[in-house]
Amino acid sequence: MSQQEAAYFVPTDNRGLRACLLCGIVHQGKYFKKFGCPNCEELLHLSESSDDVLTDCTSTMFEGTIAMMKPRRSWVAKWQRNDGFVSGLYAVRVQGTLPEDIIDDLSRMGVQYRPRVGSS
Ligand SMILES: [Zn+2]
Repeated sequence: MSQQEAAYFVPTDNRGLRACLLCGIVHQGKYFKKFGCPNCEELLHLSESSDDVLTDCTSTMFEGTIAMMKPRRSWVAKWQRNDGFVSGLYAVRVQGTLPEDIIDDLSRMGVQYRPRVGSS
């Protein structure tokens, strides 16, 4: 990846960055609040939600971000289980887990939640 491409995907302002606990995409909190998660909005309903929901479903504690330009083709995406997600900046590890009731909702919708805390 060229520096230019990387600069495009890395938010210029690092303050207020949060990672989605379900897919790991990194955006500013206000982005999640306004638009929701580009991958999980149907499941998590983050847009226009309360701060509580945002705090429950995203985390400020994450590490190892990867900019994925073509998630469908990237081997990194497959390794990170992000195959099929939108292009963007993703956290390798995210601290925290979704609340029980949301995990229950997900399983009712046939989505198996696996915390992205890493396997080490
Ligand atoms: Zn998400």
